Amino acid sequence: MKSFIKKAIGKRGANQLRSLQIDLKGMYYGLGNGVECPICEHTYRRFLPFRHRQQALCPHCRSLERHRLIFLYLKNRTDFFTTQKKILHFAPEKCFYKKFKEHPGFEYVTADYMVSFMDNIGVMPDHVMSIDDIKFPDNSFDVIIAIGILLLVPDDQKALAEIYRTLKPGGYAVLEDPINYQSPVTEEYDLSTPEKKAVSLQKYGHLQYRLYGSDYKERIEREGFRMVEEPYGKEVDAQKYGVNPWGITHLAYKPR
Ligand SMILES: [Zn+2]
Repeated sequence: MKSFIKKAIGKRGANQLRSLQIDLKGMYYGLGNGVECPICEHTYRRFLPFRHRQQALCPHCRSLERHRLIFLYLKNRTDFFTTQKKILHFAPEKCFYKKFKEHPGFEYVTADYMVSFMDNIGVMPDHVMSIDDIKFPDNSFDVIIAIGILLLVPDDQKALAEIYRTLKPGGYAVLEDPINYQSPVTEEYDLSTPEKKAVSLQKYGHLQYRLYGSDYKERIEREGFRMVEEPYGKEVDAQKYGVNPWGITHLAYKPR
């Protein structure tokens, strides 16, 4: 049925229809104050389900659990919002875009290679650019944000080297990728043939080059970063803010 609708009204129409459905559900779920999105500050009876996860999607700003946890961490535990910043944001999420763009202390630049573009969540970037070939000089940014990006890049070490190069000393990267902590090492996927790419697209909806294991920190620090991992989900009211209570935040600092 879904594919029939998609065929009849096109991908853009299907996305608009999905967005309208979320708006309508949001009007219903909005009748209450059981939960609160810390990003847009709206309250609801509950968050909307997303990809079989309950309590996931904010009907107003479209934030998901990981976005709300990162936002709370940046707000409560770092200088992110309190000092002047030059920020580069890859595949900018709709839930962050307006807030960061309008922040008087931010010089905010967005970029995307347009492969991870999701109509319902993303926004049009300032620069079409891959994270493994950043078109900015060395030491340009105080913060680089790349949420769910490194797993989509064929050579993530090259991408990390570029992030490191373009961060100012003392700056940090906000990174967030799915991690399988049951696995001691990252599982790399072979996407060298059209058939293997088709399998990845079918399984994930995008080309996914790896699933990180518990060596995530070590792989990132290999490029010179100092990684700060915090189990911040247990520090906040996970029920109220709709975050994973076991959620871990990752900030990769470039040493001064
Ligand atoms: Zn929200």
